[in-house]
Amino acid sequence: MRKLGILAMLLCGIAIQAQSRLDKDYKDIEDKVIEWRRYFHEHPELSNREFKTAEKIAEHLKSLGIEVETGIAHTGVVGILKGKKPGKVVALRADMDALPVTERNDLPFKSNATSEYMGEEVGVMHACGHDTHVAILMGVAEVLSKNKDKIKGTVKFIFQPAEEGAPPGEEGGAALMVKEGVLKNPDVDAIFGLHINSQTPVGMIRYKSGGTMAAAQVFEIKVKGKQSHGSQPWSGVDPILISAKIIDGLQTIVSREMNLTNEAAVITVGKISAGVRSNIIPESAEMIGTIRTLDYDMKDKLNKRMVEMVSTIAQAYGGEATCTITEATDITYNHPELVEQMLPTIKRVAGAENTVAQKAVTGAEDFSYFQREVPGFFFFLGGMTPGNTESYPHHTPDFRVDDSGLLLGVKALTEMSLDYLNSNKTPRLDVKPKG
Ligand SMILES: [Zn+2]
Ligand SMILES: [Zn+2]
Repeated sequence: MRKLGILAMLLCGIAIQAQSRLDKDYKDIEDKVIEWRRYFHEHPELSNREFKTAEKIAEHLKSLGIEVETGIAHTGVVGILKGKKPGKVVALRADMDALPVTERNDLPFKSNATSEYMGEEVGVMHACGHDTHVAILMGVAEVLSKNKDKIKGTVKFIFQPAEEGAPPGEEGGAALMVKEGVLKNPDVDAIFGLHINSQTPVGMIRYKSGGTMAAAQVFEIKVKGKQSHGSQPWSGVDPILISAKIIDGLQTIVSREMNLTNEAAVITVGKISAGVRSNIIPESAEMIGTIRTLDYDMKDKLNKRMVEMVSTIAQAYGGEATCTITEATDITYNHPELVEQMLPTIKRVAGAENTVAQKAVTGAEDFSYFQREVPGFFFFLGGMTPGNTESYPHHTPDFRVDDSGLLLGVKALTEMSLDYLNSNKTPRLDVKPKG
């Protein structure tokens, strides 16, 4: 018994030593992570154009002695870190792209970048916080590379382009990375990813098991009318008026035809264009937008009704219209067993009181493409300044996140990797998520 006691004390001592070594590494990395984040924030790049971002990431990984592959799915970077002992393979993913948004604040590292997007000159901003994801994962890579002796298996670092969607006509993002074999050689057993959240307090982690984020679809509506003088609408067919009726009609599909007690559904027209001057009723109008659903039956019904309604409304006013719907992203599905397996780790690093279960959200994530192939767990990291009760949402010019939230992301991904690799449990995707 005494011998066992001594052994237990010894093992406990080793564990404490290992943890204090990690704690020292975390302390050392925080300033660097913040510095990287600010650099990327000041130098954002649009989807599939993350050239300089990728270069800086690859340089950092190489400096750590990590095996690096570049140019995956255009600008993607993958690092492979082998531990001292053989074992499973865990992948960690960070997305790298920024958005066509003009930043509006007085931060010292505010972006003044501009770029061309769909033929227009636009401001570019990390308005979704992917700058924080890149910086966090670079930090995790550095900490883990200093702790190879604790790694039983392999860690694959996936820096992904174009999460927000590749420009029209281009492929990109997680789907293209999967297609190019990013989850193979070595074959990934599980994947983890996080998203900073501007409206979750720093220090908190939110998660959900199962369906977590919505499927996203893109729609395009083309309305054809008949051009006429603006002073004589009776001699033409007004596609702008028809567009207004269509927008109105589409919202009734959500409010009158969807069972909203089951799951949420959203139709948003994000862009409308028609006409050239004040006194001409134009020939045509175009709208593009997004659809969000969390249930496959609701998705099918909503799609069918949109196509029907767009065409019949246009006909009712003497015009014609078509609605084309394309898939953008599938449902982000967190493998329930993997979530259960990793929750103790998250609770340990964040504190049980700061680990909060949440409802599904209507935002979409192309992390879902990795999760269709291997079990995955995607969670939300607090980025709202301590003491604040509200903050600007993602994708807006005023969006901001607090750097003091980043270290928890580094800790969570580092320790989830170590705990997963050191555990004998390996949940598998026996049933692929529906859809
Ligand atoms: Zn995002
Ligand atoms: Zn986003």
